[in-house]
Amino acid sequence: MENAHRFYIDGKWVEPAGGTTSDLIDPATEKVYATVAMGSAEDIDRAVKAAREAFATYSRTTVEERIGLLQKIEKAFVKREREISETVTQEVGMPISVSSGFLLDWCKLHIAETIEILRRYEFSENLGTTTVYKEPIGVVGMITPWNFPIGQIFTKILPALATGCTMVLKPSQLTPLDGIIVAEILHEAGVPAGVFNLVNGDGRVVGEAISQHPDIDMVSFTGSTRAGIQIAKSAADTIKRVVNELGGKSANILLDDADFETAVENAVGNCFFLNGQACDAGTRLLVPRNRIEEATNIAVRVANGYVSGPPSDPSTTLGPVMNENQFKNVQKYIQSGIDEGAHLVAGGVGKPDGIDAGYFVKPTIFSDVTPEMTIYREEIFGPVLSISAYEDLADAARMANDTVYGLAAHVTGKDMDKVRQLSRELRAGSVYVNSPDFDPKAPFGGYRQSGNGRECGEHGFTEFLEIKAVVGHG
Ligand code: NAD
Repeated sequence: MENAHRFYIDGKWVEPAGGTTSDLIDPATEKVYATVAMGSAEDIDRAVKAAREAFATYSRTTVEERIGLLQKIEKAFVKREREISETVTQEVGMPISVSSGFLLDWCKLHIAETIEILRRYEFSENLGTTTVYKEPIGVVGMITPWNFPIGQIFTKILPALATGCTMVLKPSQLTPLDGIIVAEILHEAGVPAGVFNLVNGDGRVVGEAISQHPDIDMVSFTGSTRAGIQIAKSAADTIKRVVNELGGKSANILLDDADFETAVENAVGNCFFLNGQACDAGTRLLVPRNRIEEATNIAVRVANGYVSGPPSDPSTTLGPVMNENQFKNVQKYIQSGIDEGAHLVAGGVGKPDGIDAGYFVKPTIFSDVTPEMTIYREEIFGPVLSISAYEDLADAARMANDTVYGLAAHVTGKDMDKVRQLSRELRAGSVYVNSPDFDPKAPFGGYRQSGNGRECGEHGFTEFLEIKAVVGHG
């Protein structure tokens, strides 16, 4: 890729300040497929300076101008769709059926939703003798993970562009190529110089330079709770706003009146989505005690129907996990499930039969998992589903909430009064009822150690705004 050894700063592709590079390894083959430049604090300084200068004018653009820009971004995005899905599939092993379908739709739905919010949003309101203005917060540092590339970049850059902020993005060092495509799309769409800047690099150097930077007003972070804690600490000295979208260990509760065939199939699909690497996956399936055998049998059948193979093959339904570390980590969790007495009913340690290369994990199901087990408590980030029994709905809610996380929960059942009541009991940022379609209006974010602040929809949009009260004005 032409720009893999350059950064996008102040509207131009520029040479990095230092000379280090990093190899990118295809998770499906374990072979190096590209090399990218790694940045430094000096590159971040340069990018922040450009963003600060651009803020003076971009923050004063009109709503109509910014809507026009978002429409041009959509046009430029559509032209690159095929390249985006192929790039993401290579970078992260996402099955091509997902990267050429759900992922692209997801980005376009977010563009459309951002335009709609911008059209109707009131950037000022009158309260008593006060006029309250909602102004762009300033320069935003963005740090994104690898598990849903480009998608996570879009949920940050769209509201930032819409509200009049300028930005410096550091994508995951494991998936930098789709970020480069994003920069090229924004350039083609005519985003003014300095409004969007891209520096690649790792968390320790470039991420840390963003969190600490005195001229960055807000950090929007998505990634692990471990890194989120570090970012919040590093950002504290400059009192910048930190929006942390972190990990999870979400429960999926089946009510007794659910259609178990469909509900369990959906539950396995949800857990194995993105090769088991979705932050809001329902990785703990909770079922009534007298139905656990039935649920387990269906889950085993569904898991055994997954097809592991090259992610670029449209018939593949389960690709590899991200890298060797991730593979070893998931293996360790599967072994801990066995050692701690959970009932392994599908999959297990090792690679699927017939696969030698690539970080492929067997689609794995554990049943009779109890709350003290490690696989019940910790985020595994691989295709591993735990099934546990609950006694009644109060017990189900208590079990679902028995976690340090609070990103999501899933509930399936026919009695909507019970479903609604249970949904209100759950301490999670999102509760998905009966496997709903994706809704771009829904705010996304976590309770407890799953983060703070929200992304997406109008709630995500307002994170990028400061509030100014002009008192005695009205
Ligand atoms: P990660 O935390 O290792 O890395 C995420 C990003 O943070 C990368 O760009 C990395 O370079 C950077 N980073 C790492 N340490 C840093 C530091 N000390 N300072 C600044 N930046 C730093 O996470 P990952 O492995 O890329 O992603 C997987 C994790 O992300 C999972 O825990 C998953 O649940 C979470 N996630 C959360 C959401 C959400 O919206 N809540 C969405 C997707 C993924």
